[in-house]
Amino acid sequence: MILSDQQLIAIAKEFGAPVYIYHAEKIAEQYQKLVTAFKNNDVKFFYACKALTNVSVLRFIKSIGAHVDCSSINEVKLALHAGFSPQQILYTSNGIAFSEIEEAKNLSVNINIDSLSNLEKFGKKFGHSYPVGIRLRPNILAGGNIKISTGHDKSKFGIPVEQIEKIISVVEQNNLFIRGLQIHTGSDIENADVFVKGIEVLFDIIPHFKELEFVDLGGGFKVPYKDGDTETDINLLAKKVNEAFVNHPNPGNKHLQIWFEPGKFLVSAAGYFVTQVNVLKETSATTFASVNSGFNHLIRPMFYNSYHRIENISNKNGAEKNYTIVGNICETDTFAWDRKINEIHEEDYLVFYNTGAYGFEMSSNFNSRLKPAEVLVKNGKATLIRKRDSFGDLLKNQII
Ligand SMILES: *Cc1c(COP(=O)(O)O)cnc(C)c1O
Repeated sequence: MILSDQQLIAIAKEFGAPVYIYHAEKIAEQYQKLVTAFKNNDVKFFYACKALTNVSVLRFIKSIGAHVDCSSINEVKLALHAGFSPQQILYTSNGIAFSEIEEAKNLSVNINIDSLSNLEKFGKKFGHSYPVGIRLRPNILAGGNIKISTGHDKSKFGIPVEQIEKIISVVEQNNLFIRGLQIHTGSDIENADVFVKGIEVLFDIIPHFKELEFVDLGGGFKVPYKDGDTETDINLLAKKVNEAFVNHPNPGNKHLQIWFEPGKFLVSAAGYFVTQVNVLKETSATTFASVNSGFNHLIRPMFYNSYHRIENISNKNGAEKNYTIVGNICETDTFAWDRKINEIHEEDYLVFYNTGAYGFEMSSNFNSRLKPAEVLVKNGKATLIRKRDSFGDLLKNQII
């Protein structure tokens, strides 16, 4: 399910470029893949909203039945603002101040705690009165590259599983109500076996906690970025997860709900970033096409060498030539080096695909440039869901 070039151009003309455009039906299609594959399971999907937190997108995601996973207390507040109930919100914390966990508790949302010290503080203050999950570090290396791997044995995320004795003693001394165990090994995980390994690690630990209601296997499903890339096979994942549960019956055959936290999988392909070419520059090394953007709007290529497909939607039938696509900020901001693209003219619209996840969300005002607008397309209708920054936004918090 894709938006047509004509739709993208019409939106760029109406709302200006650069602009992030999100396709609601594509988000729903991705969500349905998960729901269908796990239809025989007792499962909940919490959208990891740090990928894209626009409140209109959150409202849409709520409307299709997903829950939401948050990485900060402000994401929790945005989710509440978007209409999610506290029970539909999960706060998977990481290295945060205890005061933020208390705030989350006061908002009655689900909480996964990721350090022994916060677990202990929580236990001392609230004892058995408020159930929580524990975020574990399973020591599994997975994910597209080391920068987006979170479960390996040098990662800061979660309490290392080898500290299980300490976890148990904190839980027992403070009579904590441990309702769930969570692991999240990284992003861009293609191989379903990673999740099976995770389950195996968890099954050694599950028997220590008598009041468990869920195991949370995190997110990180892979999406295709370029031709030949594959998506995590969700049906195979469901099959393997179910086999793993059959092969590792837990003591007393306790029923455990399965939770997942997909971010990128739901919103990546739904996002299109449309820019316009400012300048063409021929050099002996390459021909540069500078767009009216930069890593201030889309940092993934510079930050993790990520690949985004780029097309010239103003000249789809033009002869292909090699271009190096760069931005207009004073810092190297190469989006693509020597990429074959249909002949580019100044003012052509170039679209970057797969920019729904970690696109706008990681944008900044570097070079005192303005953040782009965001548009949501639903039922064929394009609606502005965030205004482009204006100059006043740059001064907003400055003491002038
Ligand atoms: C970022 C994150 C996710 C989602 O990762 P994706 O690669 O976007 O699916 C899930 N869970 C937690 C705890 C995260 O921090």
